Amino acid sequence: MNSQLPAEFRVVVDKERCRRCKRCVLNCSFGTLRFENGVVADDRNCVACHRCATYCPENAITIERNPLAYKYNEHWTEEHRKNILKQAEQGGMLLTGMGNDKPYFSYFDHMVLDACQVTNPSIDPLREPMELRTYLGSKPDALEFEETPNGLRLKTKMPPQVKLETPIVFAPMSFGSISLNAHKALAMAAKELGILMNTGEGGLHKELYPYRDHIIVQVASGRFGVNREYLNNGVMVEIKIGQGAKPGIGGHLPGEKVNQEVSETRMIPVGTDALSPAPHHDIYSIEDLAQLIYALKEATGYEKPVCVKIAAVHNVAAIASGIARAGADVIYLDGFRGGTGAAPTIIRDHLGIPIELAIAAVDDRLRQEGIRNRVSIIAAGGIRHSGDIAKAIALGADAVAIGTAALIAMGCRLCQKCYTGKCAWGIATQNPELVRRLDPEVAAERLVNLIRGWSLELKEILGALGVNAIESLRGSRERLRGVGIDAQALKILGIKHAGL
Ligand code: SF4
Ligand code: SF4
Repeated sequence: MNSQLPAEFRVVVDKERCRRCKRCVLNCSFGTLRFENGVVADDRNCVACHRCATYCPENAITIERNPLAYKYNEHWTEEHRKNILKQAEQGGMLLTGMGNDKPYFSYFDHMVLDACQVTNPSIDPLREPMELRTYLGSKPDALEFEETPNGLRLKTKMPPQVKLETPIVFAPMSFGSISLNAHKALAMAAKELGILMNTGEGGLHKELYPYRDHIIVQVASGRFGVNREYLNNGVMVEIKIGQGAKPGIGGHLPGEKVNQEVSETRMIPVGTDALSPAPHHDIYSIEDLAQLIYALKEATGYEKPVCVKIAAVHNVAAIASGIARAGADVIYLDGFRGGTGAAPTIIRDHLGIPIELAIAAVDDRLRQEGIRNRVSIIAAGGIRHSGDIAKAIALGADAVAIGTAALIAMGCRLCQKCYTGKCAWGIATQNPELVRRLDPEVAAERLVNLIRGWSLELKEILGALGVNAIESLRGSRERLRGVGIDAQALKILGIKHAGL
């Protein structure tokens, strides 16, 4: 069937500037460019990954939106018609990569932080120490000490804690959905920064074992790569129940991405589809979840916190309360802007709730029930800068996880074609030619720079608020105000409107 889909983008090559080096043709992994007496573009294949434009030595390439691909219609938007045409040609579900890109209301963008003036002095982070260190794990409500000849000694047995030098971790991204070089970059950066990366559901490649002190190992419904050795090669174990980008459904890594290394790491045959079921087939109640939490604690000698990751959905506060009572030490909340390597577009764009509301609802509920200290909260799903981090922590999170921002730092251009396995930047691919394009050391350096920059900004924000530790910001909603947020949402967020 001939495609009726118009090209979304146009590749414009400035013929005056082009010196026919063919670098763009070699860099294009989507089959858009070829060389026939000059660069020729098949615009229909262009996904706007910008690899060609970035590496053209003459700046001769511009990628443009095709201006009249679809006649304007307010109701039948370009995207609706494009999707209908695609499905009319292919049948089946439409897939996409990365997070929800629809124009839902952003609460982060409608909240502002307080600042000290006159009577409540601010603190200058260049002259005063500022503490960003954060410990993830269950905390006792009170500490007991006993007298010894050498002074007071802590009597309370502390549950296992994991230290972060700054309240940021890298979000779970599996080896398989992203390349080994991308995984290595995340691990190297996590070690350098004193934070954590997360294996995602694809197991842990042996080359990452040296980074075990900075790794969260995930146990998902497919149980890929999970055994005792795997569990003990991380500092925290995470049970993945749900994911913000695709709440309520399972995962699918196509067989083409399951090469020898992915197969060994996931413990599945080469070339087979890796299907994670939607539910864990041994979890149908909070009691079942409690059993798995304790099985994992047993397997790891009660030395590692166990985290439970859920997608932010309508009844998230009650679910989180159940998870805390089931014995989890950390709850990971993933909002509807969270990224993915592959998800049905319709699920990604229409299920789940914003992370801001979920953090506030969960923190509130756990406080009301007197169990807030039992768990740490990691919040994720669309964190874009240090301002979002400060706001998430003021709403009640202990730390945040970043996935998309980390990929962008490594080179991702948000073309949303991760599910094709053709990522031109060597990130969401297993093609050895493409994987080679991502130098793990360079990518790690870029990640370190990003997190260092954000950490410096967080210190500035704390100073402006007049506090010297991130711990003092956690759950301090009185330091937030809404701008243009309706009364119901303000109530859920637990904040006042600006001006009050
Ligand atoms: S990379 Fe730039 S200069 Fe080289 S062939 Fe392509 S357009 Fe021409
Ligand atoms: S990871 Fe690669 S394929 Fe996915 S959005 Fe980024 S550039 Fe595109």
